[in-house]
Amino acid sequence: MTWSVWGLKMLRTVCLFVIIGLAIAKHEVYEGYGLYKLSVKTTDQVELVNYLSKALDLDVWSHAIPGHDGQVLVPKDKKPLFQNELKAAGVEFQIESDNIKDILDLEDQLLSEAARKNNGSRLDSLPFDQIYTYHQVDTFLDMLAEAYPETVTLVNAGKSFEGRDIKYIKISSGDFETSTKPIVFLESLLHAREWITLPATLYAIHKLVIDVTEQDLIQDIDWIILPIANPDGYVHTHGEFRLWRKNRNTNLGVGCMGVDLNRNFDINWSEASSNIPCLDTYHGRGPFSEPETSIIKSVFDQYSDRIGLFLDIHSFGSMILYGYGNGVLPPNGLMVHLLGVRMAESIDAVKMSWNPNYVVGNVALVLYDASGSAGDYAQSVGVPYSYTYELPGHRFGIGGFGFFVDPAFIEQAGFETWEGTTTIALTRTHARLGSQEKDKGGYTPILKSYHSYKVYNIELKTVQQQEKIRILKSDLIDFWRFPNYKYGVMGQVMVPPSHFIWFDEKLEELGINRDVYIEDVYQYLSEVENRTSLSRNVGEEYYFDVNKYHRYDNILAYLRKLEQESVDSLSKVELVEYGVTAENRPLVYLRVGRGANDNNSPEKPIIVIESATNPRDWVTIPAALNIVENLLKESRFLENLEWIIIPVLNPDGYEYTHTNLRLWQKSRSTNSNMGHICPGVNINRNFDYDWQNFDASSSPCSHVYAGVEPFSEIESRMIQDIINKNAPRLKLYMSLQNNGGYISIPWYYEKAASGMFRQQYLLGLEMVKTMNNAYNLDVGSVIFDRMSGTSVDYVRSKAVLYTYNFDVVQRGNGVIIPEEDISDIVEDVWKATAVAAEEIIRLYSEELRILTAFPSPLPK
Ligand SMILES: [Zn+2]
Repeated sequence: MTWSVWGLKMLRTVCLFVIIGLAIAKHEVYEGYGLYKLSVKTTDQVELVNYLSKALDLDVWSHAIPGHDGQVLVPKDKKPLFQNELKAAGVEFQIESDNIKDILDLEDQLLSEAARKNNGSRLDSLPFDQIYTYHQVDTFLDMLAEAYPETVTLVNAGKSFEGRDIKYIKISSGDFETSTKPIVFLESLLHAREWITLPATLYAIHKLVIDVTEQDLIQDIDWIILPIANPDGYVHTHGEFRLWRKNRNTNLGVGCMGVDLNRNFDINWSEASSNIPCLDTYHGRGPFSEPETSIIKSVFDQYSDRIGLFLDIHSFGSMILYGYGNGVLPPNGLMVHLLGVRMAESIDAVKMSWNPNYVVGNVALVLYDASGSAGDYAQSVGVPYSYTYELPGHRFGIGGFGFFVDPAFIEQAGFETWEGTTTIALTRTHARLGSQEKDKGGYTPILKSYHSYKVYNIELKTVQQQEKIRILKSDLIDFWRFPNYKYGVMGQVMVPPSHFIWFDEKLEELGINRDVYIEDVYQYLSEVENRTSLSRNVGEEYYFDVNKYHRYDNILAYLRKLEQESVDSLSKVELVEYGVTAENRPLVYLRVGRGANDNNSPEKPIIVIESATNPRDWVTIPAALNIVENLLKESRFLENLEWIIIPVLNPDGYEYTHTNLRLWQKSRSTNSNMGHICPGVNINRNFDYDWQNFDASSSPCSHVYAGVEPFSEIESRMIQDIINKNAPRLKLYMSLQNNGGYISIPWYYEKAASGMFRQQYLLGLEMVKTMNNAYNLDVGSVIFDRMSGTSVDYVRSKAVLYTYNFDVVQRGNGVIIPEEDISDIVEDVWKATAVAAEEIIRLYSEELRILTAFPSPLPK
């Protein structure tokens, strides 16, 4: 067909629509179509649904698999038969819309309202609450190339079947010719009706050209972005046929138009697609028979050796899929999968709470066999990482999801997809940098974390609220301070944007009010960081002030110096190197005592102080070191006792809070199946006591991940060894932490006090009384709710007399305690420790007295 004939036809069609449009509304072809949601439980049911969909030629929007509902569009006249078959097979279904035309009309209305509102605003500001037409995008790309000639090159790659220009842009901080720079290739709208995918590529363009916040992304990577891969189909969906999928090939006039472009690539072509032109998966007359796919092929021809990542963006279903479509995995399949998981997680962290988590997997295993796809083709020509995104359906007015676009969520779709894209793009390029610092310790996490996270104050008003508070606990909810009704302690909770609505709903359920304490945690932390200046030199002249924060190397140097200095003194300080951590840091503790033990007396009692288990609790390190300094000054505590002080139980995590994530809570070990993707174990959940039951997770990506098994981590094993080697001399064990001003007593794993409650409570009271700041005293599980696998529960179970969690009072915002507040806090810790030490000495002399009175061995 020539251009002029096509033009005439088009003109006639347009006129026709105008005339019809006056008489009746749009979308008449979908009148009475019903949208069905299907839940299948067995593979038999899957097969039945697939068979039925084929036999009735239904439009399958998403395939039902067990655990993942499907959506099928059913014409009016086929509804009774379809429903009967489903009922007979016991497939559960729900009619989401009995007339899809209503939703199409609503979508139209909302989008045109948004467009009206934006009318007059400049296209280059690109408001993200609108779906742009082919023409608007075309104009936008032209303008962009003109406005940003330094970074943007516009390529007119050829014409579509109906003669529209297919344009992509190249984005580069250089000239796009640096052969060592990897290329990321993004593409959307290969399927015409998947409108929400367009904002995903436009958002990427926006963040790479107009609003650049991450220089790495253009310094280290070149980009090719093709926003409208199927312009004819796309234009068609803006007319009467909103749900058109294919291109607009006339198929030699057989009566059905269009080729499924995502079945037309030359990879296993025609093996799992249709040869019937009327079907939605028609693969065309031959591989690359279509101009649209040939144009994409030419991009691969030109750059296949440099394209490190190809992302073909589709909708919908919340999936990240990879090849091959026949179920055969690429040779690097494991890495493809793991990085896909990493992408999915970064999206899940910011997605809308009502959308499901992303599913990651091989397309044939997750969905169905498919041949000739763009993603498979990319993989087959040597692109190491090739994925097909299926973006989520976004919440839509009256409950329809799927392909419909609600303007309120267009920006969200762009934003969250960009999270996934940048995650993998940076990971890949950093991995390419090989031995450089950036890549140290595996895959580099992204520093932009906590962006738009909020911290809320919440106050409990009733016991009932306290009892139900655990419904707020989730992997993504971070209690900076756990709220407590009994003691009037205000809670501070950090919530990611993805969970704002979820969080509000839960608070409403509990009847709790909140106010915003920190508007944007990222910004807050950047400001705090600017105020804190850590000294880094470890020279001879270096004066180590324990009332300041220090990096781990400096702390180690200080500890070594203490050991050296004790050589000529009565007090003995021994630095024990227990082993090395996952990131090769020495894991150490101090033994502090005086002289040799008198063989005629029972051995001296031992007190253990553990700190920086949760690495973001920085203040606990000065607290422990201050104890050491005081001990060295007051000889009676060393004459009668021996001390084991662990100033930094989790050095890897601690360093990580300096270099990457200030609020990190785990170690950095990688011994789980997902270790390289989600490193780290929460050490205070890794002890062998009621392991993994409460406030602990089996997911390596959770901040309360309990590890692959109890004592899987060297940090917890060190405590285990200390206990085993020194019991029964161990009389007091304190874990220093930072959560709200409490001295707490086991148990943590169950809502009951341990058998030593009375003694522990009385001594705890003495400790509380001696301190300047107000502390509360109670059973741990009462204060914090139940948690499993904690160090203190474990130690208590080993018959250590006194065991406490010592949560210091919080200043500043709690988690981040300003340096100027350290000395006041650590002085209190020392006072309480001294009171407890006195009690141990008293018990010890009592024991001595009894021994002297009965010199023979004590009766068993
Ligand atoms: Zn698609």
